[in-house]
Amino acid sequence: MAELIDGKAISQAIKDEVRNERAELEKKGIRPCLAVILCGNDPASTVYVSNKKKACEYCGFDSVSLELPEETTQEELLSKIRELNDDKKVNGILVQLPLPSHIDENAVIAAIAPEKDVDGFHAVSVGNLLIGRPGFVSCTPAGVIQLLKRSGVEMAGKECVVIGRSNIVGKPMAVLMLRENATVTVCHSKTKNLREVCKRADILIVAVGKPKMIDASYVKEGAVVIDVGIHRLEGKKLCGDVDFESVEPVASKITPVPGGVGPMTIAMLMKNCLEGCMRQNGLLNE
Ligand code: NAD
Repeated sequence: MAELIDGKAISQAIKDEVRNERAELEKKGIRPCLAVILCGNDPASTVYVSNKKKACEYCGFDSVSLELPEETTQEELLSKIRELNDDKKVNGILVQLPLPSHIDENAVIAAIAPEKDVDGFHAVSVGNLLIGRPGFVSCTPAGVIQLLKRSGVEMAGKECVVIGRSNIVGKPMAVLMLRENATVTVCHSKTKNLREVCKRADILIVAVGKPKMIDASYVKEGAVVIDVGIHRLEGKKLCGDVDFESVEPVASKITPVPGGVGPMTIAMLMKNCLEGCMRQNGLLNE
């Protein structure tokens, strides 16, 4: 039976650390502030934005929330971002994705000042990650690293297979595992013999976006399995990209869905915002 990696507890610990560090900043008269932009009325995005505001309250951050109608033009959105870029009080800017289809996501991400890019999606952040310079790291993969570290999983020298190569999860995940000195293989929709490749993994990170696709036949006995996927089944039950019932008896450690990777994303967003605020105030030794 696998040990469960408790994302709820670990994310809570991170939020508490952020909150304590924020209290120290307060003594210097500094208070982090996150700006969140929601454009349109996607129901899932509305829930995510509201959770981000709650996390700001919990951590003692100020938050600015811009709720723009679906018909907002790209130029209007870019102009709001420029205002927030210039606003000295704002330390982090997050534009909730997906955006309405008439807006170019890449142009919007590129418009965010890199020093406020707390989602870590800007090309400058991605480039810094790739060459090992300080900067923001995409929250979900950064959260996975924290889950592994805080569960005592040794990464150096281990075979790690990442399934998925998206810009927000798979690619940064692979780079982060490389930074931890794992031997990394990235699989994707064109990978041949996916099962055999996955079976090599000591650490299998699944971000494939297909409900319960990865069953025990993909997993080596004793592997650590991280399930990034999140899907709402009929009846509102959540599941991941991993078939938990099938894999759990084979793995040594596994993340559940819900309560695994999911809660880490917002915790890492708070950590990024705190870090941005400290960097902007010259308080980070990097
Ligand atoms: P995506 O759809 O952008 O990418 C999926 C990747 O899987 C692609 O790179 C594709 O090449 C690969 N893929 C698709 N079918 C495959 C197949 N049959 N075999 C091998 N590879 C295949 O998804 P994403 O944005 O990277 O998200 C991945 C999952 O993580 C989704 O379930 C998403 O909901 C979830 N997610 C969770 C969080 C969180 O906070 N927990 C955050 C982001 C994404």
